[in-house]
Amino acid sequence: MKFKPEKYSIPDEPMKPFMDAAEIEHFLSQARPDKAMIRNIIARSLDKNRLTLAETAMLVKADDPSLIEEIKDGARRLKESVYGNRIVLFAPLYVGNKCTNNCQYCGFRISNKAAVRKTLSHEEIISEVTALEDKGQKRLILVFGEHPDYSPEMIAGVVRTVYGVKKGNGEIRRVNINAAPQEIEGFRMVKEAGIGTYQIFQETYHPGAYTWYHPSGRKKDYAYRLTSLDRAQEAGLDDVGIGALFGLYDWRFEVMSLVRHTNHLEACYNVGPHTISFPRYQEASLVKLNGQYRVSDEDFTRLIAILRLAVPYTGLILTARESPAIRKEAMRFGVSQIDAGTRLEIGAYAQTGSEVQDLNREQFRINDDRPLNEVMEELFDGGYIPSFCTACYRLGRTGEHFMEFSVPGFIKRFCTPNAMLTLAEYLVDYAPENTAEKGWKLIEKELQGLNGQANTKDIRKRLERIKAGERDLYY
Ligand code: SAM
Ligand code: SF4
Repeated sequence: MKFKPEKYSIPDEPMKPFMDAAEIEHFLSQARPDKAMIRNIIARSLDKNRLTLAETAMLVKADDPSLIEEIKDGARRLKESVYGNRIVLFAPLYVGNKCTNNCQYCGFRISNKAAVRKTLSHEEIISEVTALEDKGQKRLILVFGEHPDYSPEMIAGVVRTVYGVKKGNGEIRRVNINAAPQEIEGFRMVKEAGIGTYQIFQETYHPGAYTWYHPSGRKKDYAYRLTSLDRAQEAGLDDVGIGALFGLYDWRFEVMSLVRHTNHLEACYNVGPHTISFPRYQEASLVKLNGQYRVSDEDFTRLIAILRLAVPYTGLILTARESPAIRKEAMRFGVSQIDAGTRLEIGAYAQTGSEVQDLNREQFRINDDRPLNEVMEELFDGGYIPSFCTACYRLGRTGEHFMEFSVPGFIKRFCTPNAMLTLAEYLVDYAPENTAEKGWKLIEKELQGLNGQANTKDIRKRLERIKAGERDLYY
């Protein structure tokens, strides 16, 4: 894998801020893309190179519709040739919405007196997780506000509780976290509870905008947040997720900055982020933003395609903030994980009648509230294979996206069979009849599509073992 060296005004050093906004603007103002250049850059990406900031700026500045189409087509080709058709599914579990910060875009901000505050009790966590398991979920992300109550000890305790909930064949096999930045010791404590990814979004990488949106609380400190995942790395937590909240500042600047953050982590720790998230701002309780930086659907799908090409080996997460139609379109450009069956209201999974969204009890409005099986069926219809696989993480095969990307045949030998096995568990244990019928047909089609590139005989045997009651089989 070749990385074209690129020098920055602030050299990368562990635990030190690395963003120079003027430099990012400079890259953008210098970029003069033309067709030949865009094609060369796409070819470099398809040739398995992470793009430089100068190259990413060319993609970002390519406003001509025919160039945008080339970029989207490049992202589609990369997705098809490298990743195939798997989509990993997860669900968010909001544990508590107390918050001492005052993020101007968030329903949980301290100044929002209309917000109904709640933290799940031990019993309520068990009920929520049981309800999620009963739907067939295997992977969760736990979400917390930033508050002294949500200490690293508390978060680690919740993680252990979640792993301990087992009902029938139900269990949670991977718990990720989206919570406040920790000190090194705090990250260590949470890691020891057995988490997968720790996600922290910078929200906006532009220091001026950041200061405006975060007027008070711990989160006010831009540099502390920017270096938080360095501290995670120092704690030995090398599975981290970065993100920007699109709609707060110019999307072009944020895309460039996500790439800058990626190459900072690579430069200092030899490993980039496991995932990149690109949530788009959604309506939230009593929030009024002027919409100056609203990202249109066209620009949103475009920026996803650019990110896919710029960081070809990093997982991309798209959440239920987006409508089914946008999710369907965006998946073609290389999204690798989506949530499904999502509820944001704290305690909602275990309640019936909680389908109606109440903004005072939720962080923001979601646009895809379909149940898990409906999302699965749409994936089947679109030729995707939903996966609940957690094999790499549990076998210590870290850097899984990198392996998928760089080890020839890895996907056919490991990922696709594991997707089939975890899907089969879902079909036997949780799927309504109609969903199950479609799912088995898809598995058969996938088996035939493997064309001897994996041991289909062995996969068939394992599928039979699952039908006979065995669980948790993986390669
Ligand atoms: N409180 C922790 C923090 O801020 O880092 C945990 C994450 S917060 C509960 C989850 C993420 O939701 C935030 O990082 C932010 O990007 C996103 N978010 C906040 N308000 C939002 C809104 N109105 N629309 C969409 N996403 C939003
Ligand atoms: Fe609190 Fe996080 Fe919301 Fe900011 S984004 S107000 S820190 S929950």
